[in-house]
Amino acid sequence: MPKVTVVGAGQSGLQLAIGLLDNGFDVTVVSNRTPEQIEQGRVMSSQCMFDTALQHERDLRLNSWEEQCPPVEGIAFAVPAPPDSPQAGGKAISWSAKLDRIAQAVDQRIKFPGWMAEFVKRGGDLVIHEATADDLEAYARDSDLVVVAAGKGDIARLFERDAERSPYDKPQRSLALTYLHGVEPRPEHSAVCFNLVPGLGEYFIFPALTLSGPCEIMVFEAVPDGPMDRWSQATDPEKHLDVSLSIVRDFVPWEYERCENATLTDENGVLTGRYAPTVRKPVATLPSGAKILGLADVVVLNDPITGQGSNNASKCAASYLKSIVDHGDQPYDEAFLRGTFETFWDDVQYSTIWTNALLAPPPEHVLKLLTAAGDEPRIAHRFANDFDDPRDFFNWFMDPDKADAYLAELATS
Ligand SMILES: Cc1cc2nc3c(=O)[nH]c(=O)nc-3n(C[C@H](O)[C@H](O)[C@H](O)COP(=O)(O)OP(=O)(O)OC[C@H]3O[C@@H](n4cnc5c(N)ncnc54)[C@H](O)[C@@H]3O)c2cc1C
Repeated sequence: MPKVTVVGAGQSGLQLAIGLLDNGFDVTVVSNRTPEQIEQGRVMSSQCMFDTALQHERDLRLNSWEEQCPPVEGIAFAVPAPPDSPQAGGKAISWSAKLDRIAQAVDQRIKFPGWMAEFVKRGGDLVIHEATADDLEAYARDSDLVVVAAGKGDIARLFERDAERSPYDKPQRSLALTYLHGVEPRPEHSAVCFNLVPGLGEYFIFPALTLSGPCEIMVFEAVPDGPMDRWSQATDPEKHLDVSLSIVRDFVPWEYERCENATLTDENGVLTGRYAPTVRKPVATLPSGAKILGLADVVVLNDPITGQGSNNASKCAASYLKSIVDHGDQPYDEAFLRGTFETFWDDVQYSTIWTNALLAPPPEHVLKLLTAAGDEPRIAHRFANDFDDPRDFFNWFMDPDKADAYLAELATS
C-alpha cells in the first residue's frame, strides 16, 4: 500500500491521515507537539464547525465529543446604532435565525490529542518532531506522497503565495480569543452572536466545549490599531479578560450583561495575534525536485471573520482523501497534486471570496439585505444557513443585481 507522510497533527492533517489509514494506506503523521503539550498549551481557535464539516468527522467516527459539546443552534446578527444617533448604545439592526442543523465547537486542545490517540490506535505511526525543509526531503524519499498540513507554521512558507487569489498582503484584523465560564445563556436559543461594528471590527460569542466543560468563546476582530484594538494592554490573562469586557461594554453593550460576571476557563484560554489572509500555490518543489502538497490553512488561510477555517480544513481533508483514494495505484505526479487542490478550490473559493469581502466595509446592497433580514425571516434563515455552504451567497448576497432580484422575489411570494 502507498506510504503517505503528513506533516502537522491538526484538524486537516489528522482527519486526512485517519481517513487514509481506514483505506489501508501506510501513514505517518509528524507533529511538532506531543498530545500533552497541545492539551496543556494555549487555545488556538474558536473552531465553530457547521454540519457539512461535522459530517466529514462523523463519517470517519471522529465525533467523540458530539454528546458533551453544547449545540450552536443559530446565528444572531446585530449592528450598533451610530454613536451620534438618538439610539446610541442600542442596536440599529438585530435579528436571529436558526440553523437547520446545529454547529459545534470542540476545543482543539481536546480534539487533537484525542485524534492523535485514535490515529495510533488505528495503526498510524506518530512522530513527534518539528519538521524542517531538510526533513521534507527525507520524507519525500521514504514516502510515495508528502502532505504538509502545518497550519500557520513557518514551514507553510515553502509554498509560494498566489497573488491572484490573495487580495490582501497585510493582516486585516487584530484577533483575540477569550474562553469563559459563567456567561448567561442567550434566552431564545444558543447562537453565534455576530456583532458588526462598522469601520471598527466585529465581535462574536458562542457556546463550545473546553477542557473544563461547556464554555462560551469570545472572538474579537478589531481593525488593526483602531479603537477596538486594545490588545497591547492584555499583558497577562486577567488583563486580557479586563480588555475583553471593556471592548464588549464600550462597543456592543447589549452583550455585556451576559458576560460581566464571567471568568476565564483557564490561564491558557486566551489568544491574540494577526495574520494576512493568504492563498498559496498548492505544490512546492524541494531542492531535490521532489513535489509536496499543501493542505488546508497551508494553502488557503482565511481570516476567521466568517468562522470558515476549521470547516474548510475538514472539507479539504475529505476532498483530498477522495482524490487520493480514487487515484488508485497511479503515481502522485505534479498533475495529480495540482488537480487534487483545484478540485478542492472549485468548492472553497466561494468561502474565501466571501470571507475576504466581509473584511472590507459592507457595500450598500449588503447593508440593505442585512437590514431587510430584521423583517424578513427568510433572509435571516438563508444568511445563517449559508455559513455551512457559502457557495449560495453568490446567488443572492455577493452581487447587487442578484440582491435586488432576491428582494423583489421575496416581496411577491
Ligand atoms: C482566532 C481564531 C479563531 C478561529 N475560529 C474559527 C471558527 O470559529 N471556525 C472555523 O472553522 N475556523 C476557525 N479558525 C480557523 C481554524 O482554527 C483553522 O483554520 C484550522 O484549525 C486549520 O486547520 P489545519 O489543519 O490547516 O491547521 P491546524 O489545525 O492549525 O494544525 C496545524 C498543526 O501543525 C503543527 N505544525 C506546525 N508546524 C509544524 C512543523 N514544522 N512540524 C510538525 N508539525 C507542525 C501545529 O502545531 C498544528 O498542530 C480560527 C482561527 C483563529 C486564529
